[in-house]
Amino acid sequence: MVSIVQRDNPVLREHAADVPPADIPTPRIQKILRDMKAALHEQDDGVAIAAPQIGVPLRIFVVSGRAFDLEEDEEEEPTPRETKHHDLVFINPTITRLSKKRRWLPEGCLSVRWLYGKVLRSEKTTVHAYDETGKPFTRGASGLLAQIFQHETDHLNGVLFTDKARDVEHLEPERLKKSKS
Ligand code: ZN
Repeated sequence: MVSIVQRDNPVLREHAADVPPADIPTPRIQKILRDMKAALHEQDDGVAIAAPQIGVPLRIFVVSGRAFDLEEDEEEEPTPRETKHHDLVFINPTITRLSKKRRWLPEGCLSVRWLYGKVLRSEKTTVHAYDETGKPFTRGASGLLAQIFQHETDHLNGVLFTDKARDVEHLEPERLKKSKS
């Protein structure tokens, strides 16, 4: 089992290193991608994960297919085990566009249990990255996905959402209480 490091771990404060694109197909990087997906899917509320969150200071994040499902149908409750989309891998991501229009959005983090707060995020972003086969791509997003791109890019620069959040509070999720009982 791959564990998710928590906020006091110094790896979360490092400026993560680029992955040489030629290394992307290597077993070392492919194992990191598998570990990240496994760690992400162990979390009922996880929508994305950055490599430093499993202790690897490399510029990689993975967005769960669940995030794309939620983005398409924000009215419905997530159905974690029945996602329609595949996970999307972003290696050496760079944000190439951030909308000037920003909103304070509720946010949490798998590495900052169980704090939640509001963070000022651009409504739209565009990210350029390499996929898990080493192919470059560009992806634009709005709403939840745009927020995720900004949160995960922050992780790669050693920034946690609590550094910039307001109205931070401690909320034990109902789902967790249920699974413990
Ligand atoms: Zn996070």
